[in-house]
Amino acid sequence: MDIETRFWSKVAKSERCWTWTGYIGPHGYGTFRDGRGKAVAAHRFALALALGQPLLGLALHKCDRRDCVRPDHLYEGSHDDNARDRRERGRMPRGSRHPHAVTDEKTACEIARRWKQGERQTALAKELRLSKSLVNQIVRGGCWSHVTGIREPVRDFAARLTEAQVRVVLRRLHAGATQISLAKKFSVCRSTINHIALGTTWKHLHRDPLAAVPRKG
Ligand SMILES: [Zn+2]
Repeated sequence: MDIETRFWSKVAKSERCWTWTGYIGPHGYGTFRDGRGKAVAAHRFALALALGQPLLGLALHKCDRRDCVRPDHLYEGSHDDNARDRRERGRMPRGSRHPHAVTDEKTACEIARRWKQGERQTALAKELRLSKSLVNQIVRGGCWSHVTGIREPVRDFAARLTEAQVRVVLRRLHAGATQISLAKKFSVCRSTINHIALGTTWKHLHRDPLAAVPRKG
């Protein structure tokens, strides 16, 4: 997969904003690993792609959605532009009064609470008639963090599978399944599976002898 295809595979396009579905950093901006493994801001990467050249200035949003990577919602600007934008943003309403809002404070809190209690994002999205990516953004603190209090996003490679699924992954790895085939089966990236195999995530399940993965090398 070339870098552009990989980049756009992590974007959920809508009629308005194009939401970054990959890792969201603590400041709410999407983060993408470029070809050399360097972490870059996703919106900055999107704008450079659209302009066909590296940016000299800052990549700024016209839409006030930090996780938006839609090129025509972005522009290249200076620190002065950024300061002016921030002043203007400071006067803008937050939450449900905001023009891009697609849910309200109460719903965002409910999602955060029920997700913490173990409900699946997909089920919540379906029940509340919201997009899966919005629910995902909420539980990761990418949006509505001012009401949900979720500031530190959960690292996304750990969050997407349930414990039961991880047990299945471990058993299949043990039985010789490749990481790529498991990543496809569970619709997660290969690094998710790799982290499980290495015990970086879900380490406690490795104590289960049925689930243990033989170490190679
Ligand atoms: Zn936007």
